[in-house]
Amino acid sequence: MEQAVTQPQTFDRVLSSMCTRPHPVAREAAERFLATNPGDPETYRSVAELESAVIDRLGEVTGLDNPRGYVASGGTEANIQAVRAARNRTDVAEPNVVAPASVHFSFQKAASLLDVDLRTAPVGTDRRADPDAMAELVDSDTALIVGVAGTTEYGRIDPIPALADLAADADAAFHVDAAWGGFALPFTDHEWHFAHAAVDTMTIDPHKLGRAAVPAGGFLARDPETMDALAVETPYLESTSQATLTGTRSGAGVASAAAALDELWPAGYRETYERAQANADWLAGAFAARGFDVVDPVLPLVAVDLPDALFDSLTDRGWRLARTARGELRVVCMPHVTREMLEAFCRDVDDCREGPVGT
Ligand SMILES: *Cc1c(COP(=O)(O)O)cnc(C)c1O
Repeated sequence: MEQAVTQPQTFDRVLSSMCTRPHPVAREAAERFLATNPGDPETYRSVAELESAVIDRLGEVTGLDNPRGYVASGGTEANIQAVRAARNRTDVAEPNVVAPASVHFSFQKAASLLDVDLRTAPVGTDRRADPDAMAELVDSDTALIVGVAGTTEYGRIDPIPALADLAADADAAFHVDAAWGGFALPFTDHEWHFAHAAVDTMTIDPHKLGRAAVPAGGFLARDPETMDALAVETPYLESTSQATLTGTRSGAGVASAAAALDELWPAGYRETYERAQANADWLAGAFAARGFDVVDPVLPLVAVDLPDALFDSLTDRGWRLARTARGELRVVCMPHVTREMLEAFCRDVDDCREGPVGT
């Protein structure tokens, strides 16, 4: 008898995720390189070559000549590594990390794993990092300052040059988390990357707006010393040292990131961004026209104040929705989110507001 095979969800009603359907070339490459391990680049040489190609391309995306880094399992690992490198390079006994309150929760994991003190400062009314508020938390034990280029909740871009100055004054390293925003920001006027400020390390995830298959995160560093601070010796592998946090890891993410970057940088990513931003602007307008409070989408991410009952009715209709910490509906306009989807969503919003569910 044939067994029923469990299928993954479709993306037809997913408005909550920062992941998306991989580009067809990325999917194909992921499948082809499934049985490779870039954790051992001497043995798995072709995937190791693809990984260097990805890092070179990510350098182009982020304004960095001669980039160092690797394809991580995701933004979480890349952020942990940024903290780890800064901690390993400092000689203070009890290092701290200063970040805006809008920083991704992966920094809490980093702080707990690495035994560093994470200090978060309130953001400004514009929902961006406030350099003055952060300066109050900085002291001689500060090893790392963090800025976010595309916050997870509201898509805000912190004042990266001002935060770089703060880090320089404190003699601390400076990390920019562009896990989600990194593939949209090159097509905007924002200052966010290595060429705009003295950024030491950066997170930029191909498996989000980069349209690669999961797992493909990106960790980038300006200096070889950062990679040295992360490397350990690997006696039983053909390769002799490893800077990654994971050991064995899937070459699928590496190969799919290489294929997506090859196919889409820059024109395809520009088109992806422009379509996503137009959708976000359209949705923000549609909610505003219905009288809801909308947070202006600076990047393709819309936050809207919706009554709980309405949120629940929409979830009952199969929409996959997320909330901000303040409880707003948060719609991420990823590449799989089409105008037709958003129109159908708005029809359901109207329907659910009018009467009881199911009438
Ligand atoms: C998604 C995200 C992360 C975490 O990335 P994962 O790939 O889920 O580990 C980190 N920082 C920001 C700003 C993000 O949006």
